[in-house]
Amino acid sequence: MPRELQESRQTSGPAKALVKLGLVRPIDFALHLPMRYEDETRLVPIASLREGATAQVEAVVRDCEVQIRGRRQLVVRASDGSDDLVLRFLHFYPSQQKALAVGNRVRVRGEARGGFFGLEMVHPAFRVVAEGTPLPSALTPVYPTSAQLPQAYLRKAMDAALARVDLAELLPPQAVPTGMMSLRDALNFLHHPTPNVGLATLEDRSHPAWQRLKFEELLAQQLSQLQAKRERERQRAPRFCVRQGALQEKLLAALPFELTGAQRRVVEQIANDLQREVPMHRLLQGDVGSGKTVVAALAAAIAIADGWQCALMAPTEILAEQHLRKLVGWLAPLGITVAWLTGSRKGKARTRMLEQVASGEAALVVGTHAVIQEQVHFAKLGLAIVDEQHRFGVQQRLALREKLVHQDRPSSARGRDGEGAGVNPNHEDAGPAQLEPHLLMMSATPIPRTLAMTLFADLDVSTIDELPPGRTPVVTKLFADSKRAAVIERIRDAVAQGQQVYWVCPLIEESETLDLRNATETHAELSAALPGHAVGLLHGRMPAAEKAAAMALFSAGAMALLVSTTVIEVGVDVPNASLMVIEHAERFGLSQLHQLRGRVGRGSVASVCVLLYAAPLSDTGKARLKAMLETGDGFEIARRDLEIRGPGEFLGARQSGAPLLRFADLVLDEALVHAARASATLLLDQHPQAALDHVMRWLGGRSEYLKA
Ligand code: ADP
Ligand code: MG
Repeated sequence: MPRELQESRQTSGPAKALVKLGLVRPIDFALHLPMRYEDETRLVPIASLREGATAQVEAVVRDCEVQIRGRRQLVVRASDGSDDLVLRFLHFYPSQQKALAVGNRVRVRGEARGGFFGLEMVHPAFRVVAEGTPLPSALTPVYPTSAQLPQAYLRKAMDAALARVDLAELLPPQAVPTGMMSLRDALNFLHHPTPNVGLATLEDRSHPAWQRLKFEELLAQQLSQLQAKRERERQRAPRFCVRQGALQEKLLAALPFELTGAQRRVVEQIANDLQREVPMHRLLQGDVGSGKTVVAALAAAIAIADGWQCALMAPTEILAEQHLRKLVGWLAPLGITVAWLTGSRKGKARTRMLEQVASGEAALVVGTHAVIQEQVHFAKLGLAIVDEQHRFGVQQRLALREKLVHQDRPSSARGRDGEGAGVNPNHEDAGPAQLEPHLLMMSATPIPRTLAMTLFADLDVSTIDELPPGRTPVVTKLFADSKRAAVIERIRDAVAQGQQVYWVCPLIEESETLDLRNATETHAELSAALPGHAVGLLHGRMPAAEKAAAMALFSAGAMALLVSTTVIEVGVDVPNASLMVIEHAERFGLSQLHQLRGRVGRGSVASVCVLLYAAPLSDTGKARLKAMLETGDGFEIARRDLEIRGPGEFLGARQSGAPLLRFADLVLDEALVHAARASATLLLDQHPQAALDHVMRWLGGRSEYLKA
C-alpha cells in the first residue's frame, strides 16, 4: 500500500480509536476520567515567568521567522507589554507558521526555559485568540488516549458525550451513604474541576467526587456478585444424607491422626452445605500444611456414601498423583474405587478408566483438569473439588464452574444456558443430570478480607486457621548469592545427618536475557558436591513418568536432594524434607515463595528455608524478601502481597482478562467496600429495578458475573 494512503487511513481513525479505548456509550465517555489537569484559568505576565515553571501567557506576535541554526526551526518573538518571550518550534506545520503571523494574539502554555535571548518556550501549546477572550473557569482535563486520537479531538468527543449522557440518580437515597455527592455532580466535577481545588485530593482520589465514583463502582460489583449468588441459590444440587456409622466416620477412625479443631469446624461447615439442596460454592482456605486434603477426603466420603461420585482436580500431575496416593491409601481399604485421570493417560488404560467413570464404578476420580474435558462423562457427579484454586484466575474459575455444571447434560437438558434460567421446579422429579454438583475450592493463598468481599463476594469461605500439632516453624535465612558455596557446604552437613533437601531453581533453560542458573547445571554441580548421595532432578519438561519416579524416590527417602523448578510449588508433601534453598528468590512472587517454603516444616524436624538473592534488589524485590523474613503467617503474607502487587496481579486476573476495579482501591477503600456491600443487599431486597439499572449502567455488556 502506498505510504500516503496508509497515513490517510490512520488519520481517518480517531473514531475507531475511540472504540478501541472502550468509548462507545455516553456513559463510557463519562467514566473515562482525566489522568491529570492543566490550569488554563490564569495568565501570567511574561516578566514574572519563572524558569522551569509551566505557565500560560497571552501575547502578541512581534516577529516570526524560519531560521536555520543547525536545523530548520520556527522562531517566534511575542510580547505582552511586560516583556518578550521566544517561542521555538523544531517541527512545525505551515498552518502553525500562519497562525503565528505577526500581529496575531496567542495564548501560549508551556515550560519557561532560559534561552540565549532570555526566556523561551520550546514547543508550547498555543492558540490564536481575540483580545478579551474569557479564560476557562475550570481546569482543562488531560485524558488517557492513544496515538491515533489527538487530545483535542478526544476532549470534544468527551464534552459532546457528557452533554448527552444520562446521569439521573438511579439509587434511592437510603442506598447512598449520607452526604455523598450525586454521580452527576461528581463526574462533572472530575471532568472540569474548579481551579481552586486542591489538586492533591484529585490525584490521591480522596476528593468527595472520587468517593462517590468508587462507591458506585464497588456497588456494581457487589450487586453482580450477590445476584450471581442468589441465582445459584435457586438451582438444585443433590441433598446428601449424613448417616451415623457411615463412610465418613470409618475414614475418621482409620486416620493416623486426630483432626485439629479448625479441620473439624470446616468439615462441619461443608457437611452442612452438602445436606442442603442448594449447590455448595465454597472456598476452603488454609495455609500450606494446614491439612486441607483430609478435609477434601471427608467431604468426598459424604458424597460417596450417598451413592454419588466425586471428582478431585489439581493443577499439576505431580500434585494430582500425590492426592491419588493419599486418597487411595485412605479410601481403598474402605472399599472405594478411585480412578486416576490425567492428560498423559492414553490408550487402553484411559478407555477403561473413562468406562469406570461413566458407569459410576469409580466413586472418586482424581486428576488434573483433564477431568473436565469433553470426553469425560460421569454417571452421577455430586461433588467437585478443585485444589490449589489460587493458581487459576477469576475467569478460569467461572469457566470451570460452567463446565462442571453443564458437562454431564445431554444437550436437550441444557435449559439453563438459555434465557429463562431454567430452574428445576421439582427436586424429586429431577434426575441426576438436572442437578448441579456441589463445588469445593481449596486454596493455600488466603484471600485478604476486602478481596474476599469484592471479587469473591459470591463465595462462601471456610478457613483452617490452625496447623496440625507438632510442627516447628520454618526458620528463614537470606543470603546474597556470593555465599552460595557456603550454603552448599551447609547442605553437605545436613545431608550427612540424613536430612532431605529441596533446591529450587527458577528456570530450566539458560535464557540469554535472564541470568538464571540452569537447573540441569545446578543438578550436575550439586551431584558433584554430594558424592555418595542421590541427587534428583525435577522440571516441567520431563515426561510425567520420570517426574513421578523422581518424586517417588524423594518421598520414600531414597534421595537426599531434589533439584527442582517451581513444579514443586504446589502441594507437594514430603514430611521428612527439612531444608530448602531457593535460588534467585528475588525473582519469585511473594505468595509463590510462601508456597515453596511451605514444602518444608511439615514433619517434626526443625526446618530451614534459605533464600539466595542476586543484588541489586528492586524495591518490590526487597519488600517481598523482607516479608518472607518477618512472617510465616499466610494471611499476613497475603496482605503484604496485595499491598505490593495490587489486586489485579494478586489474583492472576490480569492474564485471565477479568474486569478489575478501575477506580476503587481495595487496600485504601475498605470502608467503601463495606458501604457498597450493605447497599447492594438493600437494593436487591427492596429495589431490584434500581439494582438492575445500576449494573447495566456500570457493567453494560460486561456483566458476565451475573451468570457465574
Ligand atoms: P495442605 O493444606 O497444604 O494441602 P496437606 O493436606 O498436604 O496440607 O497436609 C499436610 C500434612 O499434614 C499431610 O502430611 C497430612 O497428612 C498431615 N495432616 C493433616 N491433618 C493433620 C492433623 N490433624 N494432624 C496431623 N497431621 C495432619
Ligand atoms: Mg494441598
